[in-house]
Amino acid sequence: MDHLSGDPAETTYLDHAATTPLRPEVAEAMAEALSEPLGNPTGSHRPAQRARRLLEESRDEIAALLGRDPGGIIFTSGGTESANLAVFGTLAAASHDQATPSLLCSAVEHPAVLESCRAAAGSGSAKLQEIPVDSAGLVDVAGLADLVEPHTTLVAVMLANNETGVIEPLGHVVEAVRAQSATARIFTDAVQAASFVNLAADTAGADLVAVSAHKLGGPVGVGVLAERLPSVIAPHQYGGGQERERRSGTQNVVGAVGLATALRLAAAERDAATRRVAGLRDALARGLTAAIPDAHRTVPPGVATLPGHLHLCLPGVEREELLVGLGERGLCASGGSSCASGALQPSHVLAAMGVSESLSRGAIRFTLGRGTTRVDVERAVAVVPPLVAAVRHDG
Ligand code: PLP
Repeated sequence: MDHLSGDPAETTYLDHAATTPLRPEVAEAMAEALSEPLGNPTGSHRPAQRARRLLEESRDEIAALLGRDPGGIIFTSGGTESANLAVFGTLAAASHDQATPSLLCSAVEHPAVLESCRAAAGSGSAKLQEIPVDSAGLVDVAGLADLVEPHTTLVAVMLANNETGVIEPLGHVVEAVRAQSATARIFTDAVQAASFVNLAADTAGADLVAVSAHKLGGPVGVGVLAERLPSVIAPHQYGGGQERERRSGTQNVVGAVGLATALRLAAAERDAATRRVAGLRDALARGLTAAIPDAHRTVPPGVATLPGHLHLCLPGVEREELLVGLGERGLCASGGSSCASGALQPSHVLAAMGVSESLSRGAIRFTLGRGTTRVDVERAVAVVPPLVAAVRHDG
């Protein structure tokens, strides 16, 4: 079979928004960190000192790449923990001086943020209002301005959406919030965007920023919450007081080395990678929409998205059926929203954008990344349309 066939022995990985392959340079840096004894960074002997040095060097490098003070970098286990710490840590700090803290959260946030906010509201420890988005998935900044009050505690708007790739107008969000409140904390989930944006510049107005290593060629299980100093976070978990009391637990030193390396590589290659990946994504979009004329591009033309995202809604298609068929042919894509069991759920992002339920049943997300090649795109363009025709239910 040639490379355009549906040979399942070949893998065409177009699911980089779910997770990215570990970059060899990152694996090498982590192996190097493991090549000599590593102690607990809180200890005083030589292996502990070595661990502390690697941890603090990683912290310094990550801080520089995020445009933050090293003291504002809190290592966590990934994006979900960073989001929980941003929400509950801010609420814990605010509860001392506010009767009922208030949260504003965009309707298209990742569940790590949305469900944290909903849980806080459900337990009565905060009031929550969700910020509407328009049909492109962009936060309604004017609507947000009406919702912010001088005593709003936290406003959460992600930098780029994981399902659609839409880049949110964070600069305008910051202006709108600051016009109403000097004290509201602004949190941005930069987990999806981190591979392709200038984090220091694009998150400059946010008080809190979440990043996760496995979305940018680093290892699973490590991330950071970067905060502006002085700290606005009270502990959300208790223990040995690591990370300046804000996140207890022995640090994942090797993971921190991996994250620092992945972020450094991403920053160095950003412009070239963005151009190359966007070019491939556009070729994929052209190929698929030419072969499937009623394919609906979920994000309208002219709206800025991450370079690797292509989100389509395919009328008459059940995405589970399509994804299984693609998987059998070695093509990895996603429905965009799934829970831990892998079951696809109705997308709250598409619902917030006003996409009809019937159209969103046929939602499919292709996400390209650094390793994606022209051959991958050609193969997807050859494999997807006939399968769409085969699984389509007319009428
Ligand atoms: N935020 C966004 C936007 C994401 O895409 C993800 C992962 O899909 C997360 C948070 C959660 O990150 P992690 O898998 O590191 O917990």
